Order: sequence, then structure tokens, then C-alpha cells
Amino acid sequence: MQGQHNAQHFDMRETCPVCGRRGSEPFYSAPMAADPVRSFITSQYDDQQGRIDWSRLEGTDYSLVQCETCALVYQRYVPNEALLGHIYSEMIAPRFLAELERERLTLDNFHKVAGELSLLFRATDKHPSDIRFLDYGFGYGRWARVARALGAQVAATEIGEDKKRAAASIGVQMIDEAAIEAAGNGTGRFDIVHTEQVFEHLVEPGEAFSRLAAATDGIMKVAVPRGGSIRRLLTRHGLTGVSPFQRARMGKPWRTADFAFAAVQPLEHLNAYSARTMQWLAQANGLKIVGRVRESVTTINHTSVRGFARSAARLGANLGRRMLGGGGSGYYLFRKA
Ligand SMILES: [Zn+2]
Repeated sequence: MQGQHNAQHFDMRETCPVCGRRGSEPFYSAPMAADPVRSFITSQYDDQQGRIDWSRLEGTDYSLVQCETCALVYQRYVPNEALLGHIYSEMIAPRFLAELERERLTLDNFHKVAGELSLLFRATDKHPSDIRFLDYGFGYGRWARVARALGAQVAATEIGEDKKRAAASIGVQMIDEAAIEAAGNGTGRFDIVHTEQVFEHLVEPGEAFSRLAAATDGIMKVAVPRGGSIRRLLTRHGLTGVSPFQRARMGKPWRTADFAFAAVQPLEHLNAYSARTMQWLAQANGLKIVGRVRESVTTINHTSVRGFARSAARLGANLGRRMLGGGGSGYYLFRKA
């Protein structure tokens, strides 16, 4: 199963982008522009107000490789810079995404984010105003703005002038990869390095991880789609023709297989991580994994009996979710070993 690609729009990753192993062959390969991959992609983007230029996807296979050394499952053919631009600015309309992100800025989400960040802040043993926080992949600032509100000094990375302006307007300092590298060389490491749904998108995740690990002086958080037995699923049943995100938009709950398919979403989720991959990354970078479950403190409201009952129920629900997190939560906290 060699697979082919159109070098005008795609680059080939010949070696594992985490550990560098050469020679692993794809366990799944199918043309991007034909079903089932085509209908997966169509159903993924048909509600995002963008348009898909199929001529750019023709002649390239959606090929998945599993690394025998670090267990990473990765797409062998990845969009080049120009195609990435098309995906993130035309297939997904930026206005659609901005509006979606604005809708997500609810009070409940603020508390959820603040609850999780509070635990990370506490784990540094520092006063909030002394905490140097790096949000790697700012997006629309869902996390960075809360870190600012909690009092930290916040730096972030992002591409695109509009997002950079948005960051500046809420007091977040935009930095680049060179500044992260300099931080790692000792010019000011970060107490918390935060990445939320970023590493699955990176063409060179191993390099990014090493750079961030070196720049961390406390905790590094990596949250990614939880994955699962992708290889077994695809080998036995093939790829779905319906994107899990369309199911989600229709209000249908995800089955185990949907989490796996979402983790290897064509064009965007280029890397799917298992616990073994994260273990490999930790070891190679002098870190150890100290957390595997997303936790969040919940504010308990004692001022009224009804309020208290509601808060207690919320706390119960959070505990329940914590249990559900289990082995494949896709959530990892690292510290220096
Ligand atoms: Zn590998």
C-alpha cells in the first residue's frame, strides 16, 4: 500500500514526525477525491460556509501510517502551506469560525476553563501575577483570555494578523517560534505551557514538542483528540463516509468509532496520539507524565439552598465526567522528570 500524492499541493512525510523512524508503510490508503474519503470531507465542511476546491485534492491518497517505534498514527501526505491556507480560510469560512467561537464564550464555558486553569495555576506554587503562561495556538483566545483574567502574564502564538490584533487587545503578548526557542535556552521559561487541540494539526509535532518542553519550567499541557484503536477499526471496517462532526452538529452522540475517525480527520488532524506516543515524547524530552485526566474545580455557591443543590449536582456531573475520561482521554500533563 504505497499511496500517491500530487506534489503541487501535498508534502510527503517519509519519516515518523514524532520519533523520526523511517520505513513504516501505510495500513490504510484511499484516494482523497473519491468515496469514502470524499464524502467524509464533504460532510465535514458542508455546514461551514466555505467551498472545497477538489482539483487540489485529486491525485493524492489519504494514507495512514502507524509508527512501529512510538505508535503515532499519522497521515503520510500533508497539505503544503498554500493548501493549508485554502483549508483554513476558504474551506472553513473565517467568519463562520469567529462566530462559532463567540458563541462559545458563555459563562458556563468561562467557569469550565477557569476551573481547569485554577488547578494548573495552583500546581505551580506561585502567585498568579508571577505565573508566565504560554498559550501555544491562541485561536480566538478562549483559554488565553481566562488566563489573563486570573492574573497571569500571558504570551501566545498564532498565525494571521486579525488573531494577533485580537490577542493584543486583551493584553496577550504575541511571540513566535524563535522566541520559544530563546526561552528554552534560558531567557525566560514558562511556568505553564498550554496546548489545546493543537498537536493533531502540526506537520512537525516532534520538533514543536521538544521546543515547548525546553521552554517549560513547570507544567506542560497537551490535549488532543482521544483516538483509540484507529488501525483495528479501519482495517476491519474501513473509513466512515460521514464526518463525526456532522453527527455532532445534528445533535447525535459520538460512538467509540466516531472518536477514532475524528482523530484522523482528513486534511486537518494529521497526527493521532496514543498514551504510548506521549510516553515516548516525555522520555525523549526529559519529562514525565503527571496527569491523564482533565480536572476542573467547581465553584460551590453556598448562598442559597437551591444554588447549593445546583452546584452540588454540577460537582457530581464533573466527577462523573472525570471517571469517563479513563485511559483514552487525550489529556496529558507533563513535568520535568
Ligand atoms: Zn514514531
